[in-house]
Amino acid sequence: MTIELIVERAEKNPIAGVRTFYVPSESEEGKRYQVVEIKRDGKTTYYCNCGDFFNRKLPFIGTNLFSNCKHGAAVKERVSK
Ligand SMILES: [Zn+2]
Repeated sequence: MTIELIVERAEKNPIAGVRTFYVPSESEEGKRYQVVEIKRDGKTTYYCNCGDFFNRKLPFIGTNLFSNCKHGAAVKERVSK
C-alpha cells in the first residue's frame, strides 16, 4: 500500500540553499513533521524532526548507510518531479 503524503512548502526560508517542507504524520492526526532540505557542496540532505529520523537515521548522516525517513523520502520524491 502506498500512501501519498502531502508535502507543503514553507513560505519563507532565510538561508540560501535551504528549504523547509511540512509532511503530515500518518499515525497521529493533526501532527506534521518539518523536513529541512539543505543543499551544500553539491549534495542534498533532508533532515526531519520525527523520532525515526533522530533515533535511527541521524547517526548515519554522511555515511553510505544513511537513508531518509518516510517524510524526507516523500519530500525528495516530490521535489524530484
Ligand atoms: Zn521523518
